[in-house]
Amino acid sequence: MTTTIANTKQQQRIAIVGAGPGGLTLARILQQHGVASVVYEREQSPSSRGQGGSLDIHHDSGQKALREAGLIDQFEALARYEGQDFRLFDKTGKIYLDEVAEPQEGDRPEIDRGVLRELLIQSLDPAAIRWGHNLTHVVPLENGQHELHFENGHIDTVNLVVAADGAFSRIRPLLTESTPAYSGLSMVEIYVNNAAVDHPEISALNGRGKMFALSDHKGILGQLNGDGRICVYLAFQVEREWLNTCGISFDQPEDAKGLLLQHFDDWDESLKNYIRSAQGPMFPRRIYMLPVGLKWTSKPGITLIGDAAHLMSPFAGEGVNLAMLDATELALSIIEHADINQAIQAYEEKMYVYSSKSAEESQANLELTFGDDAAAKFLDLMNQYHSVE
Ligand SMILES: Cc1cc2nc3c(=O)[nH]c(=O)nc-3n(C[C@H](O)[C@H](O)[C@H](O)COP(=O)(O)OP(=O)(O)OC[C@H]3O[C@@H](n4cnc5c(N)ncnc54)[C@H](O)[C@@H]3O)c2cc1C
Repeated sequence: MTTTIANTKQQQRIAIVGAGPGGLTLARILQQHGVASVVYEREQSPSSRGQGGSLDIHHDSGQKALREAGLIDQFEALARYEGQDFRLFDKTGKIYLDEVAEPQEGDRPEIDRGVLRELLIQSLDPAAIRWGHNLTHVVPLENGQHELHFENGHIDTVNLVVAADGAFSRIRPLLTESTPAYSGLSMVEIYVNNAAVDHPEISALNGRGKMFALSDHKGILGQLNGDGRICVYLAFQVEREWLNTCGISFDQPEDAKGLLLQHFDDWDESLKNYIRSAQGPMFPRRIYMLPVGLKWTSKPGITLIGDAAHLMSPFAGEGVNLAMLDATELALSIIEHADINQAIQAYEEKMYVYSSKSAEESQANLELTFGDDAAAKFLDLMNQYHSVE
């Protein structure tokens, strides 16, 4: 029976669009079970774009995926357990919480996004990833197959297409009319380089992990990365157009710093130093989300994972973990079911349950983090988490 199923799977062509954590994890777990797939990625190479900050990988989701992928030992060697330290301030510099992680303990160690991606890429057969393939559109065929069209002229006809193409998925419209909506939060991502050596005061304030300073519907959120940089998000609860209308030229970082500082005029100097000490480019971003609890009518030969399925704000810290959990659940479902469409349905039903819970949590945390009296309320939230652990 197992041989029959494996043979059937080998004859089916599976395409995964997007080489983010979700798509790569799916390809790796399928590969572990002898099921071939191809990952199409629009970026030209693994290094063609900066990969951003640090991610906490949770025991029951991201780490579960890495166990299934046979990569948990390599992950543990790379993970930063001290990155779980967390400090909470308000704008005056008053400290509300100072959590220090025990060495090699805790169930949410950190890893830089680029390091995680590299671990996954290196684990795959090099021929499994097609770089420089930007999907333009997908044509559903009458037999349940899909024809994938790429900007470079390549066309592929597949039995299963998995959309792992992130927030603005080009495949999602084939399953649902829902589109991401602006969450009410905009962020400016900046970096303090070589913090321990060049900026010891900021480094001491930030600690070995994350730091949140919250007040006045704004935030300065610092996160020490494995390469010694502090990735800083300046967060603003503002209308959607604000990044365009605020008068700040983000492509002129030195000028922009002065104007950004004005938005934190009455914040403690120690916190404003994050902005003063930033170097290099700035990355303005709007935070979008799909409707909480989004579902669609299952269709043959197509499904969504990760941000393509359930984009949410980063305030449950679940985005990458859910993308990797989806990959695991879908891969295992494909292995277990002889019929690929039953595999899709079983995965989707399971995914709706856990992802809607995280999406609710993420929305509630977003409101609290940028609401009134945010630092005190965030402390209560952290205490609630610890009391249920
Ligand atoms: C500011 C910010 C901070 C965050 N912090 C955290 C955090 O601390 N913890 C956490 O868990 N999550 C965090 N997240 C969320 C997390 O980054 C995402 O949830 C996660 O990356 C989703 O993985 P994915 O594989 O679904 O999609 P992505 O990582 O978005 O990958 C999608 C891939 O698809 C490719 N692609 C897109 N379109 C096409 C196309 N047309 N053709 C071919 N390829 C395409 C892209 O180039 C990309 O490589 C954060 C998000 C933001 C914006």
